[in-house]
Amino acid sequence: MSHVKLHPALDNGIKPAAPAFAGGTLQCLCPTDKVEVKVAAQTLHNHACGCSKCWKPAGAKFAVIAVVPRDKVSVTANADKLEVVDPSATIQRHACKGCHAHLYGRIENKDHAFYGLDFVHTELSPQTGWAAPGFAAFVSSIIETGTPVAEMAGIRGRIREIGLEPYDCLSPELMDALAAHTAKLKGIVAAH
Ligand SMILES: [Zn+2]
Ligand SMILES: [Zn+2]
Repeated sequence: MSHVKLHPALDNGIKPAAPAFAGGTLQCLCPTDKVEVKVAAQTLHNHACGCSKCWKPAGAKFAVIAVVPRDKVSVTANADKLEVVDPSATIQRHACKGCHAHLYGRIENKDHAFYGLDFVHTELSPQTGWAAPGFAAFVSSIIETGTPVAEMAGIRGRIREIGLEPYDCLSPELMDALAAHTAKLKGIVAAH
């Protein structure tokens, strides 16, 4: 099923994380005056995402996106080229005005379960050793951006073939984290 293309970082063999990898830089796709972002930690929860909001490289059906604590993320060059794609979105995606790559996504709502984590695309990094993608999220959502329903079985088959599980929301672990946070906000304490 290798004719089914998902994303270059998935299609060309998933690269494993390097032990003790401590981060690196992300660079936008502009040929000059690149926006540069320092990510001073290994990423967590790296995954393929089929939602319509995550940035994808040209021709890719999926984004590949991970999180990292926001205090580990800093813009180190050409910050003036960044703008927030959709200020009303939960995740404020900071994109380059020149090449439209998303350098980091940040949640400003302190009540959100994922507050404190920034979303990053480590394919924008010249370094290798970042956390490998571990699952595929929002797979059915690629239909919303034009993938025919008839192709979905092949796409889910290919995702499993490369060792990932396709989910139509986030992974169970992350859905549990969201639900636990909602329960906490409601004052509900789960019985053990
Ligand atoms: Zn750019
Ligand atoms: Zn997404």
